[in-house]
Amino acid sequence: MTAHTEIEKLRTMLKAGTSAALTVEEAARQLREAGFEELSFQYTWGLTQGGKYFMKHHGTTLFAFTVGEKLDYRDSFRMAAAHTDYPCLRIKPNPDIEAAGYRQLNVEVYGGPILNTWLDRPLSVSGRVAVRSEDVLRPDMRLLEIKRPLMVIPNLAIHLNKEVNKGVELNRQTDLLPIIGTLSALGRGSGKAESCAKKPEEAGAEGMGFLDFLAQELSVAREDILDYELWITCLEEPKLVGIEQDLLLSPRLDNLTSVQALLSGIINGTRREGFNLIALFDHEEVGSRSKQGAASLMLLHLLEKICESFGRTPMQTKEIIYDSLFLSVDVAQGTHPNYLGKMDVTNRPVLNGGLCLKEACSQSYATDCEAVAIVEQLCRAKEIPYQKFVNRSDVPGGGTLGAIASSVIPVPTIDIGVPLLAMHSAVETMGVKDQIAITDLLTAFFSI
Ligand SMILES: [Zn+2]
Repeated sequence: MTAHTEIEKLRTMLKAGTSAALTVEEAARQLREAGFEELSFQYTWGLTQGGKYFMKHHGTTLFAFTVGEKLDYRDSFRMAAAHTDYPCLRIKPNPDIEAAGYRQLNVEVYGGPILNTWLDRPLSVSGRVAVRSEDVLRPDMRLLEIKRPLMVIPNLAIHLNKEVNKGVELNRQTDLLPIIGTLSALGRGSGKAESCAKKPEEAGAEGMGFLDFLAQELSVAREDILDYELWITCLEEPKLVGIEQDLLLSPRLDNLTSVQALLSGIINGTRREGFNLIALFDHEEVGSRSKQGAASLMLLHLLEKICESFGRTPMQTKEIIYDSLFLSVDVAQGTHPNYLGKMDVTNRPVLNGGLCLKEACSQSYATDCEAVAIVEQLCRAKEIPYQKFVNRSDVPGGGTLGAIASSVIPVPTIDIGVPLLAMHSAVETMGVKDQIAITDLLTAFFSI
């Protein structure tokens, strides 16, 4: 596996993973291609030694695991988790708004994006739509991704706000409504634009609302659309940046860098004993406490089901789980050269300096020195560069799913990830070499 191939894989994932549902789809595609077989939790499994499997959970969470060719009743789990969601805007129900000759959408904020970074960019839509079906309990779930620019949230001109460079606080309801078109395109504009606008009958789209647009895209009747989870997604493409082209600028680096490293790690891992497992959870950006989130009992139930499939007793299953290891993989804060005062005074990870081991005594990052030492020994054995990250003591920083998952699955857990600049911006920056480091670590973790 060359470095170049890994960066290409990451770029493919960054372009495909425009929402949690589409990330799960891309993950499933890679796993299928690598010979993993899809399972459904609701059925009894006939797992075999040497088998490779994956399972989707409510469309936005995915688990994949491999079974060792040699299996002893004591063999345990190597687990790694990442998240499929990212901070962005979500389209509300009944979203159509008409204002002063413009057509707009009503949206809400998901997670903690840097709101200003969503302005003046080409935006589109990604997610899933529930369509009426014959079976009341099983609506027809459709994936939807539109690759062409559909909307924009324009800034206010500096001439109309001379204070703009002193910083602008955006109102989450009124200042973020994207423009999806003008009424004059429908022949309903006013003033000058009216003269060149088509007549309503010519436009043929008079009154076409967002649901009509969805119906057209999905080739279904408008009244058959029941509900949706549709996210506004930034259409910027991943780009290499720098004199040496050693930086990568892209939307969704948090956390598709980790999602891709987990996939490459479990696909290329060569461990012949025990179980390797990856979990790609939704809802990390809103606290993980949902049926698809890391606080769910789903992972525990999955481990129990796998062990039971191989005839382990409930107590043997607990023994296996307690002997397991868990990597929580999510991005870290890289040191920003313009804001050195925001970083810790002795731990300042830089881009392209290697993957970060994240520690916090508050346990906002799962922190256990014995577990950290295991990862350090692995890095040293494989010559993988790493650096340590801790928050400055007067800056609270973020949390990850590691501590949440390890309170459900009480196993040694380590928080790691690549350092980023501009985390939660619509477009984030990373070092290319760090993706190689994190992928090498995951592959080693799933190989030894
Ligand atoms: Zn994250």
